[in-house]
Formats: sequence, structure tokens, C-alpha cells
Amino acid sequence: MALFNDIINLGHEGVYLCSDPETGLKAIIAIHNTVLGPALGGTRMWHYEEEEEAMTDVLRLSRGMTYKASISGLQLGGGKAVIIGEASRLKNQKLMRRFGQFVNDLAGKYITAEDVNMSEQDMVWISQETKHVTGLPISMGGNGDPSPVTAYTTYLGMKAAVKVAYGNDTLQNKKVLVQGLGNVGTYLIEQLSKEGAKVLVSDIFESKIDAITSKFDVEVIHANDVMSTQVDVYAPCALGATVNSESLKTLNCAVIAGAANNQLAIEDEDGLLCMKKGIIHAPDFLINSGGLINVCAEYYGRSKQDAMSDADYVYNKTIEILTESADTGVPPQIVATAHAEARIKEAKQTQHSLVR
Ligand code: NAD
Repeated sequence: MALFNDIINLGHEGVYLCSDPETGLKAIIAIHNTVLGPALGGTRMWHYEEEEEAMTDVLRLSRGMTYKASISGLQLGGGKAVIIGEASRLKNQKLMRRFGQFVNDLAGKYITAEDVNMSEQDMVWISQETKHVTGLPISMGGNGDPSPVTAYTTYLGMKAAVKVAYGNDTLQNKKVLVQGLGNVGTYLIEQLSKEGAKVLVSDIFESKIDAITSKFDVEVIHANDVMSTQVDVYAPCALGATVNSESLKTLNCAVIAGAANNQLAIEDEDGLLCMKKGIIHAPDFLINSGGLINVCAEYYGRSKQDAMSDADYVYNKTIEILTESADTGVPPQIVATAHAEARIKEAKQTQHSLVR
């Protein structure tokens, strides 16, 4: 049964296939781990060429959510959903509501939120079928767009990494290159500009660059030159896997700290390569946890302000992980994963001893 190999290897509790020919819905909901709480993770809608790609994506992403929740000290497990199809062509209220019914069938074991190609409006439609949804607008009692909180934790993680690299955490006059000028990138640039950093920016769309240059004093770097521009901090805020054996041949920075998920193409190998080059990589699932902290607060009935103060935790935790990494020679991402796994293991042992 090859089908079960990945699920067993990655440690998933359950994977659910959702199909509805009437609306054309094809979705996968992956629940990785619920030891610390219900599995919360966004839904991504994507035009996967092969169904296997969708499965690989949802398995990897849901596992990442388990670690993100655990290292952030949240009472949440890890899960994720993908809807297969082109959002611009297929997405409508009926499809979203049907998906909401599938989420509801899981009776709170999985809680959804926004991810790529999903909006607050989609969450509103899903909420017509289930209460197990977050990322709702403030007008509906939700905590709204998670991106400002994600940008905040990314900024705190960056400062912590800069402190470890340079001895103090000021970003004033530090050259910081933000790759990806979307929701998170824009809020991050605002913070960096306020602190007096020398901000460099890059995106593949002119419109995104224009939106930033009209508001902030930044230097624009061509997308092809990102990996060879000398900076203090490289902040990947676009796609994953940009830190790999190829890009590390030219990457010229002291710190990598950004919001993108899964920045290291091969976690242990590329993490070690960074260390050998003297580059400090701030673990992505730790420093981009603000979005999750925001929806977690929403789920437990707490405000965005509460989420912002919960997010402060990221600074000290990043220092702790980077210090341990420097002391042990183990890459930060691996150290962070071990911390996340240890908390889950401890909680599981406590649960077992309560049952016996
Ligand atoms: P977004 O879609 O709003 O922005 C992404 C930006 O990256 C877009 O402007 C896009 O044009 C640009 N881009 C794509 N390919 C690029 C390339 N090769 N070079 C330069 N720019 C490129 O996404 P977002 O919400 O800002 O999220 C950014 C990253 O952070 C994503 O990887 C996301 O998964 C991750 N993340 C986001 C949140 C959140 O709260 N939004 C939370 C955790 C993680």
C-alpha cells in the first residue's frame, strides 16, 4: 500500500479526500497532529498539474503547521487543506459552501483559514456551513487579515537574528532585501523603514514594485539579481525553497529571515550549507508564526491586540534557538523542529499518564 507510505513517514493522523461532482470540488484535508489541540491550518486553492502534487503539498504543509503551532506555544495541532483547481475559474460561493460542509463533517478536528488564493470572503461563505473557520472579517467578530501579525513576528525574528549576528538588534542602516512585495512584504517594509533600515525590494510584477516605491524610500533590485546582491539581511517573502545549493553559491548576506514557508529546499543539507557559509537562518515556521497566532487568538475568542502581545514571544524564542544552534553546530531549523517535537511528546506523555 504505497498510498500510506508518506502518511506514515510524515506521521499524519488522517487524510480526507473530498469530492463533489456537482460543484466540481476536489479537495484534500490533511490532519497531521492533534495532541496539542484541534488542527488549524489554511486552505490553499491551486491548479496542480498532477493530483500527487496536491497530496505532497498538503502533507508537507500540514506537518509544518504542527511545528509552527507547537513552537509558538499555542494550544493547536497542525492541519491544512488544498482545493484542486484554478481559483479564478472555479471558485464560487457554492463550491466554498460545499467545502465548508466537508470541514464541518470533521466536527472541529480541523479548523480552516485563508491561504494562497483564498480570501476573507471565502471564509465568510465557509462559515455559512461550519463554525470551524477562522480568518473572518473584524465586522463578523474575526481578527481580520493575519498579514500584519505575520510581518510583526518576521520583523522580531529578524531583529533577534541580527542581534546574534552583529551583537545588537538594531536594523538602523542595515541593508535588508525584501523579496516579494505582497501582503506580508508590504507590512514588513513599513516596519523596516520606520526603524531606519536601508530597504531593497524585489518582485516579479511591476505593479507591486510601483505600489511600494510610491510609498517608501527603497532601492529596487531586479528579480534575477536577488541572490547575488550584497546585503545584511535577505528576507524571502515570496516563495519557498529559494535557499538551496544553487542560490547559496552566490547569496551574500549575514542573515536570512523572512516570511515564506519552507525556505530551505532540503532542510538539513541547506541548513548546514548556510552555517558553513556563516549565514544565520532564522527558522521560517518560528518567525512567520504571527498569522497563526492571530487566527488562534480569534478561535479562542481573543483580540488582534492580544495576538500582537502573544507574538512578542518570537523574539526571545528565536534568540534561544539560534544560540543553541551556535553552541551545538546543528542548523537552526533542525533545532526548532526538535523543540516543537519535544513539546508534543511531553503533552502526549501527560495525556497518556492521565488516561492510565
Ligand atoms: P502574497 O501572495 O500577497 O505575496 C507574494 C508576493 O511575492 C507577490 O507580490 C508576488 O508577485 C511575489 N513573488 C512571487 N514570485 C516571486 C519571485 N520569484 N521573486 C519576487 N517576488 C515574487 O503572499 P503573502 O501573504 O505576502 O505571503 C508571503 C509569503 O509568506 C508566502 O510564502 C506565504 O506562504 C508566507 N506566509 C504568509 C502568511 C500571511 O499571514 N499572509 C503567514 C505565514 C506565511
